[in-house]
Amino acid sequence: MFDTVLIANRGEIALRIQRACHGLGLRTVAVYSQADQDAVYVRQADQALCIGPAAPGLSYLNQAAILFAAEVSGAQAIHPGYGFLSESAAFAERVERAGLTFIGPSAACIRTMGDKVAAKRAMRQAGVPCVPGPDGALPQDPAAIQAIARDIGYPVIVKASGGGGGRGMRVVQEEGLLLDALALTSEEARRAFGNPEVYIEKFLLHPRHVEIQVLADSHGNAVWLGSRDCSLQRRHQKVLEEAPAPGIDPAQLARVGERCAQACRQIGYCGVGTFEFLFENGAFYFIEMNTRLQVEHPVTEMTSGIDIVQQQIRVARGECLTLTQDDVTCQGHALECRINAEDPQTFAPAPGRITGWRMPGGFGVRVDSHAGAGYRVPPYYDSMIAKLIVHGATREDALARMRLALAEMSIEGIATNLPLHRDILLDPGFSQGAVDIHHLERWLQERQTI
Ligand code: ADP
Repeated sequence: MFDTVLIANRGEIALRIQRACHGLGLRTVAVYSQADQDAVYVRQADQALCIGPAAPGLSYLNQAAILFAAEVSGAQAIHPGYGFLSESAAFAERVERAGLTFIGPSAACIRTMGDKVAAKRAMRQAGVPCVPGPDGALPQDPAAIQAIARDIGYPVIVKASGGGGGRGMRVVQEEGLLLDALALTSEEARRAFGNPEVYIEKFLLHPRHVEIQVLADSHGNAVWLGSRDCSLQRRHQKVLEEAPAPGIDPAQLARVGERCAQACRQIGYCGVGTFEFLFENGAFYFIEMNTRLQVEHPVTEMTSGIDIVQQQIRVARGECLTLTQDDVTCQGHALECRINAEDPQTFAPAPGRITGWRMPGGFGVRVDSHAGAGYRVPPYYDSMIAKLIVHGATREDALARMRLALAEMSIEGIATNLPLHRDILLDPGFSQGAVDIHHLERWLQERQTI
């Protein structure tokens, strides 16, 4: 049982975790780089320690410095947030070895789910539907590999087992290109991820990105908290998310959700996690599991009424889930816009000092942000400075509320993607719902040519 949590992250999620800890009566230790010394969560922490210069490799990714900070501050648990060390099995292991609690699943679970082939195999065994294709190592014989791809049917996608962040993938349209693509992807993966293993699966042409949030304790209990749709993406980066995923039969969703919860029980998963699926022609295909808290968790909080971060901390303390699946309901609809410090046309990062900051408010409006007037957005990290989240009784209500909130919101001194979000909310295609993962890029291209 711990009473002090070190938050090994920065920005809005550091503040979000700090609020959850304080809500549970826990002390917080903020660790920060020199670039973040004036951040609000650093001031509000019960204790704050500088762990290095701005460069992430020297601070937020510096495992030794973070463990040392835990030792000197007396923190007994470390919350990794998202990004940085959140999916590092090696870090989770070091934390546990130091006698501290890693607020996340075991290193073994992170390792299994971080290897895409192992994850796919584990999910198939648990009855979770996967993209057609083998979930084992490819044979050596080129003819046998070609036979597998022919069986799947072209186009196929070659993926690195150790890949992540949208890297280590190659689409193959026809047999003549297959073996070269495999060799190339394998060599790239060896260099980028230290693991040359690759596999092939069917390439889906017009899928949606639909994901399921899960929550599991260390006593074998697991629930799923509903679906999210994150199909609005640019270069594999999510721009706007919603819950629930519109237009999917609730009975089908419940079947897949239950399979995800069952998979958690089967692999001894503890904590929060997300099963990511491609959804095409009415069918779900598992692509990967994120073994951490996600940026878009608030849309699920708004529709489920459950504080996901507090639940995550409670199960890490060894508590039993007090929720059963029957307690989990989905009320209304929620949307989240990721507000980035970037040029709304070119998407180039736009760090700098914020001179004006007016946030929207009112019923069903939530802003998760560490920024404010006078805050300087540092150039060293992700450009997200706020998440604007709205909740409405229906999707239409949520859309209308988001349009008003975006109109009310103003940030001065730096460029942001607020104008982009305002335009997206006026796009009839998006407003109708259930667009595929290529919709946003198609729409951006059309907008450019007008
Ligand atoms: P990463 O871990 O790098 O994010 P994912 O396996 O989650 O990799 O895939 C990233 C993105 O690549 C997906 O969101 C989707 O857009 C695309 N993708 C991956 N697998 C397929 C597939 N089988 N068919 C079509 N698109 C895919």
